Amino acid sequence: MAHLRFDALKRLNDHQPVPVELPDVNISRFFGENVFGPEQMKANLSAPIYKQVANAIKNHEKIDHSTADAVAAAAKIWAMSKGATHFTHWFQPMTGGTAEKHDSFFDALAGIEKFKGSELVQQEPDASSFPSGGIRSTFEARGYTAWDPTSPMFLYGKTLCIPTVFVSYTGETLDTKSPLLKALKAVDQAATKVAQFFDKDIQHCTASLGSEQEYFVVDEGLFNARPDLVMAGRTVFGHAPARGQQMEDHYFGSIPSRVYDFMKDFEIECWKLGIPVRTRHNEVAPSQFEVAPLFEEVNVANDHNQLLIDVMGRVASRHKLKIIFTEKPFAGLNGSGKHNNWSLITDTGVNLYAPSSSARDNLIFLTFFVTTIKAVHEHADLLRASIATYNNDYRLGANEAPPAIMSVFIGSQMQNVLNEVEKSGNVKIEKGDNMYMKLGIDQIPEIILDATDRNRTSPFAFTGNKFEFRAVGSSDNCATAMTALNLIVADQLELFYNEVSKDIEKGEEKRLAIVKVLRRYITEAKNVIFGGDGYSDEWVKEAEKRGLNNIKNTPRALDAYTSKKSLALFEKHGVLSHKEVEARNEIRLEAYIKKVQIDSRVMGDLALNHIVPTAIAYQTKLIANANGLKGLGIDNAAVVKTIEEISRHIENIKNGVRDMIEERKRINKLGDTHKKAIAYCDDVKEKYFDLIRDSVDKLELLVDNEDWPLVKYRELLFLR
Ligand code: ADP
Ligand code: MG
Repeated sequence: MAHLRFDALKRLNDHQPVPVELPDVNISRFFGENVFGPEQMKANLSAPIYKQVANAIKNHEKIDHSTADAVAAAAKIWAMSKGATHFTHWFQPMTGGTAEKHDSFFDALAGIEKFKGSELVQQEPDASSFPSGGIRSTFEARGYTAWDPTSPMFLYGKTLCIPTVFVSYTGETLDTKSPLLKALKAVDQAATKVAQFFDKDIQHCTASLGSEQEYFVVDEGLFNARPDLVMAGRTVFGHAPARGQQMEDHYFGSIPSRVYDFMKDFEIECWKLGIPVRTRHNEVAPSQFEVAPLFEEVNVANDHNQLLIDVMGRVASRHKLKIIFTEKPFAGLNGSGKHNNWSLITDTGVNLYAPSSSARDNLIFLTFFVTTIKAVHEHADLLRASIATYNNDYRLGANEAPPAIMSVFIGSQMQNVLNEVEKSGNVKIEKGDNMYMKLGIDQIPEIILDATDRNRTSPFAFTGNKFEFRAVGSSDNCATAMTALNLIVADQLELFYNEVSKDIEKGEEKRLAIVKVLRRYITEAKNVIFGGDGYSDEWVKEAEKRGLNNIKNTPRALDAYTSKKSLALFEKHGVLSHKEVEARNEIRLEAYIKKVQIDSRVMGDLALNHIVPTAIAYQTKLIANANGLKGLGIDNAAVVKTIEEISRHIENIKNGVRDMIEERKRINKLGDTHKKAIAYCDDVKEKYFDLIRDSVDKLELLVDNEDWPLVKYRELLFLR
């Protein structure tokens, strides 16, 4: 086994850089060339047809058959002119990834290339192999994919990809996109009603998402020599390197040339696909990096993120690299997140979370700002559940990751504003030098435009003109988090609208009615606002005093999904039915169980078949050495001590693995998925993973480096 490691290390030096050529320094000349979006539709469709499509997209409406036929015909001509032979419905089942099934344009029966509107609009892939959480019994294996015209089609390789939703034969949704689209519609409607208090011209509000994607990069050969990385996407063993991130020299440092080539290469692919990637830099941990696109409408941004992940994986293999999106691949180092930067923007071009210099707009701002905080306060557990996955559990509350306690960071500026709005009916307006502004109502103090406070330890932070949901895991599909966030904000905005409307009907002046409700919201929700160090133990205690939950693991966090409150919320806005929520919960619990099972098996296998034999072989050498020393009359106490130490660890590992397997057998007999998930969490993961790992990692330090079978952290992580 050790030869795998050394072969891989040897090959590291043979690596030849892969030439990367930018097609044009003017990226605008090739940006989106593989996209069949609004612009291409406009160019290739008749004006009335294009108008129908555009309206349907804007108003979340269905597209009729003849329009679909026209779009399909135009898309086929466009795609074939670029070398496409196939088309596919591209969807996002609840596996977390994407799925596709290709059909050729060529119809052998007719002897020509064909692509009908009906094929664009709907397909019927076999749904039986995708998770359905019990919704789809095997005899109803059929499922449908249906075109989502709000996200542009794109050409990937030789295939025209059509973003679609995925539903079961009986109509229940089986994907992550469907509920997202419904939540986005809900937030559009609710936000628009509220925004119209201020500006009747506003007809729509669009939720925007900019997702900062963190990831690790390692050499492909080294990756493949670590069965745990291959099987589980994370290392289950590995002693921290002598130099980890304590030097803090990697963040924003110069990018290693091999990774730099890879970045340039995948960025070009992304640009062609219309993915607006913009920022690239080193992250905090060694070999950790980030890519961030410019924000877009949430649904499109999420499709782009899913596509980005795929592109990165494919391009990496050209460079003999592996990209690790798992949240916590290396113990003791930072994990990776996917910070979801989010805001609502009106069709009149106003970002509702941006304080501005006009008095009227600032009351709008304050309305959306406070309502969002209130929403997080009311539904913190649902937000927590929306980001709950097995691998994210390792990250939340660990090294530089936001804690599992949901709180909102708003900065001292906004804190002062809220304090004053809450307590006073009459606030003095200071005359500051530059960016001060009035809110137009006596009760409301000024806001400084440039809120410069930053807090890296908060799971949900206001960053000047947007909220940043930082707790989302790097491998997660943003749709789940975005569905929850947009849904809870939609609900709170609707409640707000109803309350204010009632007061207005009673004869209250509109702006006063608004401020009155906002003041109450601030009082009710201020518990969830926290500006201190989210990583500290004091915060854990303080949060407990405040009555905020700290739900540390996925099986328990997921309970919030099926609470009466959440079920009612999903149902009220038509986002998910009871049955769908229950099914999703089942799927996520099952996914959790499988992940623990896999990690546990990988651990057992590596420990018993690779680590223990290596340790025994080394120990045998030591025994010979000890005997030799003794024969020569030399003190062998030190060697004997090492032999004993190795024995202890071997025994600990063997006992640990044996007991862990027994636990798995016991738990597998439990019928109930929820009970099983809890048991896997408490009685397998919590009880044995660290215990076994601890001994393996100690052995790594004791056993001769030449014999050690697993590629070490220092070898994996210091790619140049
Ligand atoms: P920082 O986190 O330091 O503020 P950026 O300003 O570059 O970094 O923003 C990070 C991400 O947030 C980017 O993807 C950016 O496009 C996105 N973003 C910026 N403004 C908004 C907004 N109003 N709504 C949603 N996302 C936004
Ligand atoms: Mg950021």
